[in-house]
Amino acid sequence: MTRSAIWHPFTQHALEPPMKRIASTEGAYLVDEDGNRLLDAISSWWVITHGHRHPAIMAAIRAATEAYDQIIFAEFSHAPAERLAEGLIEIAPAGLSHVFYSDSGSTSVEVALKMALGYFHNRGEARDRIVVIEASYHGDTIGTMSTGERGVFNAAYEPLLFGVDRLAFPEPGREQQTLDMFEDFCRSGRVAALVIEPLVLGAGGMKIYDAGTLAGLKEIALHHGCLLIADEVMTGWGRTGTMFASEQAAITPDILCTSKGLTAGALPLAATLCTGDIFDAHLSTDRRKTFFHSSSYTANPVACAAAVANLDIWRNEPVFERIENLAALHRQNLQRFEGDKRFANIRQSGTIAALDLVVPAGGYLAEAGPRMRRLFRERGLLIRPLGNVVYLMPPYCVTADEIGSTYDAIDEVASIVLGSAG
Ligand SMILES: *Cc1c(COP(=O)(O)O)cnc(C)c1O
Repeated sequence: MTRSAIWHPFTQHALEPPMKRIASTEGAYLVDEDGNRLLDAISSWWVITHGHRHPAIMAAIRAATEAYDQIIFAEFSHAPAERLAEGLIEIAPAGLSHVFYSDSGSTSVEVALKMALGYFHNRGEARDRIVVIEASYHGDTIGTMSTGERGVFNAAYEPLLFGVDRLAFPEPGREQQTLDMFEDFCRSGRVAALVIEPLVLGAGGMKIYDAGTLAGLKEIALHHGCLLIADEVMTGWGRTGTMFASEQAAITPDILCTSKGLTAGALPLAATLCTGDIFDAHLSTDRRKTFFHSSSYTANPVACAAAVANLDIWRNEPVFERIENLAALHRQNLQRFEGDKRFANIRQSGTIAALDLVVPAGGYLAEAGPRMRRLFRERGLLIRPLGNVVYLMPPYCVTADEIGSTYDAIDEVASIVLGSAG
């Protein structure tokens, strides 16, 4: 076996076969070095929205490279960043007025945390607690891991993670408990911000909760003077049926993080949007109140140009129609599993569908995920279950036939895995 020098993400190399090389991408498909076509049913880790290599975005990238590469973003600005910021303010919940660029979902959340702490620091208010919801995921840096769910994924780094206050996940029927817990934490007067994935907790297992609870949390935050940070890194760009999930709760978060679908998945880029209040708290002739954050590739012009082209696609193409069609296809196809004892918690939020495979307890759970992944691959599908949670989050160009055969494969793979379980 030839060994690659590459250390792949979230990969136990001792258990995985050598990686297949992908030779090209097109629409909803990855094409590997042997010419096999693989339906990308998880949008290449949730980034691809319209489909791979949308022609308008590829053209915008080519055009941008005629004028730009990386440009220092202190002292200078550039047109793609300006146009993108204007476009983002236009589509974001009303009241968000400033845009800070970075380059990944994790950094967009780090920036949000620093903005929140800087806001209170600069105002001379002693607020330093961060509140999160259990089963959250906000990234893989030390700061974002601190705000995320603790477990095997971050056990080694635990000594360095900072403490946060955790709310119970708002399970259906128990939403009030979550709201009450938040109210309790807020009474300390120490809470700076609630960091939350609106409507869907992604990496935590595609856990879905209602918009009313999100609205309730925002109301409590407002009442107690703490900030609400909406991590829309996964939920943004139509995934839950609206441009941003926050819209469904009719709220404007104080800070909104976006990345994955920002360039439609073509290039790495992130943005953290905030209100005028937060910007103004850093606006001073006192240099110590500066927002001290940057990364080398901040506001990369080529990436910004890709994102501007993405905004045009949302303006010019019937994207919401595609999203509604995809949501309807999930609804129809999920029906076949209703009352099916092999599955539990059949759920959907817009273009995201998820169901839990009912597996015997114990170590079997850990094996079911990789086993299903292999079986899906053999059927020409890229699907990566989160443990026993099977979910689909395809790009919006996927067809009814492709969705239908994907659900056929879920049906078949579930039987194979459970049939050999006991
Ligand atoms: C993926 C994700 C992140 C981290 O984004 P990266 O680009 O992988 O750093 C943060 N928050 C949420 C909700 C995500 O789904």
